[in-house]
Amino acid sequence: MTPEIIVAFQQHLQAWYRENMRSLPWRRNRDSYRIWVSEVMLQQTQVNTVIPYYNRFMARFPDVGALSMSALQDVLKCWEGLGYYARARNLHKAAAIVTRRFGGRVPDNWKEFTSLPGVGPYIGAAVLSIAHGRVLAVVDGNVKRILARVFEDPTPVNGSTAHKSFSRLAGTLIDPASPGCYNQALMEMGALVCKPASPRCDQCPVVFFCRAHCHGTVEKYPRRNQRKPVPEVRVAVGVIRRNGTVLITQRKADGLLGGLWEFPGGKIKKGERAEAACLREIKEEVGLDIVVDTYLTEVRHAYTHFKVVLDVFLCHYVDGHVQLGGPVDYRWIKMADIDQYPIPGANLKFISKLKNPEILNG
Ligand code: SF4
Repeated sequence: MTPEIIVAFQQHLQAWYRENMRSLPWRRNRDSYRIWVSEVMLQQTQVNTVIPYYNRFMARFPDVGALSMSALQDVLKCWEGLGYYARARNLHKAAAIVTRRFGGRVPDNWKEFTSLPGVGPYIGAAVLSIAHGRVLAVVDGNVKRILARVFEDPTPVNGSTAHKSFSRLAGTLIDPASPGCYNQALMEMGALVCKPASPRCDQCPVVFFCRAHCHGTVEKYPRRNQRKPVPEVRVAVGVIRRNGTVLITQRKADGLLGGLWEFPGGKIKKGERAEAACLREIKEEVGLDIVVDTYLTEVRHAYTHFKVVLDVFLCHYVDGHVQLGGPVDYRWIKMADIDQYPIPGANLKFISKLKNPEILNG
């Protein structure tokens, strides 16, 4: 594109945005903490899912000081069900650093802001451009898809060179006079018009600049490398009952679902029966002897890189003391108190059954 065409592209896009932007809670002002929290929540998650979480989070942790002074468990509880819990742990850690190192002021420059846990190039560019007008182009899935179509760019959007390649392209298009508005316009256009399937080219503000539309090749873009099939892991889970309580254990602080609480269990080995795996895992991982009473349910849950199938058993305690490998905790709790703990999505799928005393004690 020539400089004149780039300016026309920017103007069409931003004029459309000013007319069509959705009213979203994080767009009420340009407070960098509010924008930061929204961008963290919006990673890998749909806007409509994020809105109620965002409103609850902002009511509970209205500024960086409030977040830094809160217990991680409270933050994880507020995040429960939103997934990708490393985002919450990093945000909590970053808030503490902002308070300690930057006097409670969210850094407004690239070097300091992107030194915070969980703040990568995308969040860095989004927050600094929207809150502080820094000329930094955002590149997320929406932006890559639009650029691939507008330029008929054959770079696979999930390939190793995609980020570099589309960042270069995005950098040539950003409006230096209003980078925040421009970035939001591009992302909004990707969400509302240039959708992954069935883009609404008839409503597109940049249709006259789009090579794929002009050549009738829209469905060929973006290109992507074929993904490997997602593996499936089977896990046996034991709801261990003892004197009106059940045992929950805490996951290690780092790693998948770190810091969350769950019913104990572990992977079923090849050729192993689920019930046998439940007995073995509880003995190996928790150090307890139990009896499996009955099969409760099967639960399926998908993560980004694998799927999990839980075989959940109702069991009762027989002997032993809880012994966990590593710095993690456990509780014998009444089911009525389970909502006080942050619980992973796969466990939430069967907890409603356990809240029924007839099922739990049956
Ligand atoms: Fe996307 Fe269609 Fe617009 Fe091209 S014309 S950017 S394919 S919505």
